[in-house]
Parts: sequence; C-alpha cells; structure tokens
Amino acid sequence: MLMPVSYDGIILGAGHNALVLQAYLARSGLRVLALERAPAAGGGLITEENPRVRGFLHNTHSFFHRAITTAPWYRDLELERHGARYIEPELNVAMILRDGRALEWWTDLDRTAESFAEFSKRDAAALRTWVTEFRPIVDQILTVEAQSPPLPPERRRELLGRSRLGRRLLEVAQLSPVEFVEREFENDAIRAGLLFFNGLREIDLRLPGFGHSIPALLAGQHKAQMCMGGSARLAEALVADIREHGGEIRTGAGIRAILMRGGRAAGVELDTGERIEARAFVVSGLNPQQTLLELLDAEAVPQNVRERAGGFEYNLLAPLFALNVALDEPPRYKAAERRPDLARAFMVILGLERFAQFSEIVGAHERGEIPPPVMWGACPTVFDASQAPPGKHTAFLWEKLPYALNGSAANWDAEKEKHARRMLALWSDFAPNLAEGAVLDWFCRSPLDTERQLPNMRRGDLLVGSFANGQVGYNRPFAGAGEYRAPVGGLYLCGGSTHPGGNITGLCGYNAAGVIAADLGLRQWWPSRPAEKALETIE
Ligand SMILES: Cc1cc2nc3c(=O)[nH]c(=O)nc-3n(C[C@H](O)[C@H](O)[C@H](O)COP(=O)(O)OP(=O)(O)OC[C@H]3O[C@@H](n4cnc5c(N)ncnc54)[C@H](O)[C@@H]3O)c2cc1C
Repeated sequence: MLMPVSYDGIILGAGHNALVLQAYLARSGLRVLALERAPAAGGGLITEENPRVRGFLHNTHSFFHRAITTAPWYRDLELERHGARYIEPELNVAMILRDGRALEWWTDLDRTAESFAEFSKRDAAALRTWVTEFRPIVDQILTVEAQSPPLPPERRRELLGRSRLGRRLLEVAQLSPVEFVEREFENDAIRAGLLFFNGLREIDLRLPGFGHSIPALLAGQHKAQMCMGGSARLAEALVADIREHGGEIRTGAGIRAILMRGGRAAGVELDTGERIEARAFVVSGLNPQQTLLELLDAEAVPQNVRERAGGFEYNLLAPLFALNVALDEPPRYKAAERRPDLARAFMVILGLERFAQFSEIVGAHERGEIPPPVMWGACPTVFDASQAPPGKHTAFLWEKLPYALNGSAANWDAEKEKHARRMLALWSDFAPNLAEGAVLDWFCRSPLDTERQLPNMRRGDLLVGSFANGQVGYNRPFAGAGEYRAPVGGLYLCGGSTHPGGNITGLCGYNAAGVIAADLGLRQWWPSRPAEKALETIE
C-alpha cells in the first residue's frame, strides 16, 4: 500500500516525555510527527475546565512537579519564553495531625528542622545530618544519572566504588526505605511522614536497594513546584517550541499498528487505516505491552523480547483516586487557627499519623480492599487565582487505592461516588467549612478512570511501571531494552517505562533524544553531562 506522507520520525503518544523528545529532534532539524489519541497533547499534563461550573480549572492528573525549573530541557527549550511559569511555595508540605499539630517541610531547611524538633529533637538533628551528607550525592551522582542514559550495572558499581560519595551511596542504597526510616528516625509521626511523602509515591518502600531514596529527596535543593495557569501550560509551552521548529502533532489520532519494512520499524497505521511513513525511526511513548505486543505483529518481535515485554510489571501501590472540588472559599483547616502558616501550605497530607499505617495500606492493596484513609492534595487557587473565577477556588485530594477493587477494577464504577463522599466527609473533619456550604461542585476519578484516559498507565499505575522486578536503570523497562532502543530495528522507547521512570520529569524523553541523535549521527546542539564521565571525576 502507498505511504503518501513521510517524516524522518514518528512518535507514538504525546505525553510530556514524547513532547520533550520531539522538541529536541525538531530543533535538530528533523521532520518529526507525534500522534496522540487524546484531544490534546500532554498526557499527564492535563488541566480540565469543570463542565458544570464554568471557569473552574482542575489538574486531574499531575500537579506537584518536582524541581521542573532545574530540568535541563526546561532551560534548553526556553519554556519560559513559551509561557511556562513555575512557583515553589515555601511551606511545601504539611502533614496535619488530628490533634492539630503539623509536621512541615519548608523550602528553608531551618524551618523544616524547627518543625521536626517539635516532634523530636533527635530527628531534627538526623534530618540536618542526612541533608548535609546527601546534598553532594544528589548533585554529583543522582541528578547526573537521572539526566543521562543509564550505565550497565557493573560499570556503574565499579565507578561508584572509586569515590567516597559513590561508596556511601551504595552503602545506604542497600537498605529498603522502610529500614532506612526505622534505623535513622525515632518519632512515629516523622517516620510515617518521611515514608509517605518521600517514598510512597515513587517506589515500593519494602524494596532493598532503595534506601537512598529518602535522604535523596530530603537533600534535593528543589521541592514540589506548580505550573501557573495549570499543568497543561507546561504541555502548551512544549507544543509551542515544537511548532516553532517545524514539528507536527496530530491529536485524536489512535494508532492501530507499527509498520515494519526490511526488519525495521518504518511507519504506523492509524485507526482510520491511514498509513504514515517514518524514514529513520519510530519512537513509542507508550508502555512495553502496547508497543511490542499490541502494535507490532508477533513475527516482528523475537519471542524472548515478547516474553520480557509481557512480564513488565506495574506498581501495586501507585493507583490514585482523585476527588476534585470547586469551592466558594479555600478549605479552612482547624489546625490553621493555631498555626496560621497552614493557610498557605502547598501539599497537605491528612489522615497520616502512625508509621504502622504503611503496612496497613500495603496489606489492603494486596487484598484489593480500601485501606484506612490517608489523603493528600492542594488548593491551587491559593497560589494562582487564574484557576477559578474571581474569589472562588479549586482543590483536590488524592488517595492511594487498589486498582482491582474487591477483585475487579470494574467495581470502581459502582463504588466511586460513595467513596468520594467518604473522602469529602473526612476532609471536612479537618476543614469544617467544606461541610458548611463551601463546596459548589465535585467530581471524582478512580484508578480505572486513569487507565481509561491514559491506557499506557496500565492498572492505573501513574508511574507507568514499577521499579521492582529489576525494572530500573539500565534494565528499565527490561534487560535488552534499557537504553531507549527497543530490541526491534528503528524502534525506540521514551515514556515513563524507561529510565529514570514515571512522574513529570521529562528525563525519559530528554535522554532518549540524545540516544537517537547519536544513532543518527546528528550534531548534538544542547549541552549534556554523560553519567560515565561525571562519575569518573567525583572525589
Ligand atoms: C491522578 C494522577 C496524579 C498524578 N500526579 C502527579 C504529580 O503530582 N506529579 C508527577 O510528577 N506525576 C504525577 N502523575 C504521574 C504522571 O502524570 C505520569 O507519570 C506522567 O504523565 C508519565 O508521562 P509519560 O510522558 O510517560 O506518559 P503520559 O503522560 O501518560 O502520556 C502518554 C500519552 O500517550 C497517549 N496514548 C496512550 N495510548 C495511546 C495510543 N494507543 N495511541 C496514541 N496515543 C496513546 C496518551 O493519551 C498520553 O497522552 C500523576 C498521574 C495521575 C494519574
């Protein structure tokens, strides 16, 4: 069949990683097309207007964007020139306890340590010690590694073993995050908060090999940030850069198949039957099952690769249930009467009090049951009035809930409204004005809704794949596909299922762009710091 339109490269899905990749390649002079099934580009960078009460904007997927303004692509792609603007609220996280106390993380370490000291002086000292010790490890090793294609594990270990910082990282990493917290901190609420805020959203906290994740997050110079105007503004800035450099994005374009020619990926077929040719490469921002099992013919993929793709695992603990509210006024937390700063807390955690809740939550997820409630969220309009009509507000709370509720995800459709009402009742215990007429409208999204909207987030896993099962670094998504090259000629991967993983980091797309540019023999126009070189030079 004829392929009338042709591009250098085609990208499947226009999530933020795919957009970052496309922007780099478009600036490299390539003609690249991204195909996206949704009506807008951005994937998890969605900001939706409430259909019932106009003017209220809800960030129904990602909202807390960690350290985005320090990402190399944010700078290289001049996203502020394209309209992106971020803030990093000072009281970055507040875990509000039922007795009115609050454990607070500030952008200022001294203020965070003061808050820790209200719970335990020893833990406040431990916080300072770990931040001091891990800051150079974060700056010189972990950040560099995340912003570079991953090294083979043996080479990485050898390089890290040469330096004092590297050896310390390897030593702490041997622990699981749970072991780290139990060993280094004594206070029950602090232990719970550290585990939850620093870990529960990223990795399985029981896994050895990730003991460094909590000190690394504590030591990171930048905390959670928000995009002014809503998360979608970041996607719009990326799209603007792509268009400025000749890239094309087609939305509403479902993909039926990746086409092969001469043993190489050479184009795609859309649901409409339209075929589009890619002269040099196809890149998938989707998950390994979609890419290698659903979109490619079985004979195009070696059997051992099919098995590995099929065995790619998703996080049990990642799925989120979201309650989004349109408000007449912001939530007024009772705890703020004594601690006025809480009125401007960015991320608020509710229902978390004890370390033991972690195992209760894990157990409930394993059984497919709703765990005792722990919720977190924000009121974006406290910081950005543009996301609601004048004087009004939007807010949301998330809860980690199992995908297969009572054995089946289908149960969510009958259960979700009831569950949202329970969440709202609990929220009102902390912020009574929510039960006194402040709520103008609400809607909720279940883990099943997440998968329906973004099918690459299989089983509602917003991280697009767990870090268990060896799915990390050089072996993410699986051994033999870990450097953004799918084990099929001309086919690359760039979504959250690749290194360094899910969340809004843009680094999967950034790193994949470097690999593709190198494979095509393009001159790399942007500065980069390959991990190997960087690790060779640390003390
Ligand atoms: C409720 C929720 C809250 C979250 N909160 C945060 C947060 O606060 N901070 C954070 O960092 N992360 C958060 N995340 C996670 C974050 O959104 C994801 O990890 C991130 O979006 C993954 O980026 P990606 O580029 O890999 O893919 P995605 O953003 O998932 O994009 C993939 C794209 O591919 C498209 N697609 C899928 N299948 C096809 C197909 N067959 N054909 C064509 N297109 C297809 C999808 O429509 C989508 O646009 C949240 C996620 C959810 C669900």
